[in-house]
Amino acid sequence: MITRDWLSFGNRKYRKKYGTSLLTFGLPAYKSRSGFMVCPGAKDCIAGCYARQGFYMMSPSRKLQEARLKLTQDTRFVEIISAEIQRRKPKYIRIHDAGDFYSVRYLHHWISIALMNPQVFFFTYSKMLPVIKVAGSLPDNLKIVFSEGGKFDHMINREQDQFSRIFKTVRELRSAGFVNASHEDMKPIKAGVKKLGLVYHGITTRVFSTGGCDAKGSGVQLSNGVRQVQGGKGFRPATAAVVPSVSMRV
Ligand code: SF4
Repeated sequence: MITRDWLSFGNRKYRKKYGTSLLTFGLPAYKSRSGFMVCPGAKDCIAGCYARQGFYMMSPSRKLQEARLKLTQDTRFVEIISAEIQRRKPKYIRIHDAGDFYSVRYLHHWISIALMNPQVFFFTYSKMLPVIKVAGSLPDNLKIVFSEGGKFDHMINREQDQFSRIFKTVRELRSAGFVNASHEDMKPIKAGVKKLGLVYHGITTRVFSTGGCDAKGSGVQLSNGVRQVQGGKGFRPATAAVVPSVSMRV
């Protein structure tokens, strides 16, 4: 268990720009096979989630995601991932190309990993605002962008938080004052850009990030009127109260 590679190379977009310097860590999207809720903040994205496709459920990558979920619940998780980072020496780690911070304890594991590896930049998107807001401040090398389309959109402070939204066109994205992160999200996230826009290209096989998971195919209507493609998914502050229409694991 300790010597295998748990981190994967990124999707085509990331591989093209960053090669092997960027690694990813994905969990089963939405739920595990056993029914464990990996994305308690998911809402509009569920219907279009690639994890719900029969083929995907059978794929080797899904098996690896299930194994990673078990690893996150192992007492050696932080130690194992940190050892792999030190062995493989990535510059960037994209957490959760699928899945989300399902508990405060799990988020704290990633905070520990980031603190132990200050030379690496960790980034991700999340719909789990109650977990992230209760966790408090994050290390400088861990950025979590809140992504719209989940149960906790009302908790996003759109004046202060770094967040993402999906648009139909680049023109709409720009006129709303967002930065287009459809083809490059790591740099604007690292730079602290607050409003990250992602463009939906219609029913297509083109892969793009919907603010979290990578997505392809046709999909589901989001509450902002944009159809989210299959697999879509979709970060930060340090304030108070836990919210709660999901049962929070700690
Ligand atoms: S689309 Fe993303 S956030 Fe939504 S259920 Fe799937 S993995 Fe979770």
